Amino acid sequence: MKIALIAHDKKKDDIIELAKRYKDVLAEHELYATGTTGTLIMGETGLAIHRMKSGPLGGDQQIGAMLADGNLDLVIFLRDPLTAQPHEPDVSALLRLCDVQKIPLATNTSSGEIMLQALKSKIYFQ
Ligand code: PGA
Repeated sequence: MKIALIAHDKKKDDIIELAKRYKDVLAEHELYATGTTGTLIMGETGLAIHRMKSGPLGGDQQIGAMLADGNLDLVIFLRDPLTAQPHEPDVSALLRLCDVQKIPLATNTSSGEIMLQALKSKIYFQ
């Protein structure tokens, strides 16, 4: 499966923690991330990740283009709901495309956890 991992700055620690705990599961899949998120996760876990541009510089749109083309199967995007983002339109577009394509999307650690558990036990994702 092709999985995208993205986190706003205040959620970077959370996505690193999640990636560390599910490293073995994630390692079985093709991983994509926005620039900074990908660099941090790679540095902390050693996972191989295709990195896009940084989110505010177009990375969210690059992930969005993959969604539009049907090239992603699952998205974990840990959003910071308490901080204004300069690239909010790009974020909204990405989230919208998940719904357009019916791609499972987790926007916080709790839903991310459920998604990765489902992936681990193969109860939902093939
Ligand atoms: P970043 O982008 O991983 O490059 O920080 C995330 C985002 O969309 O804000």
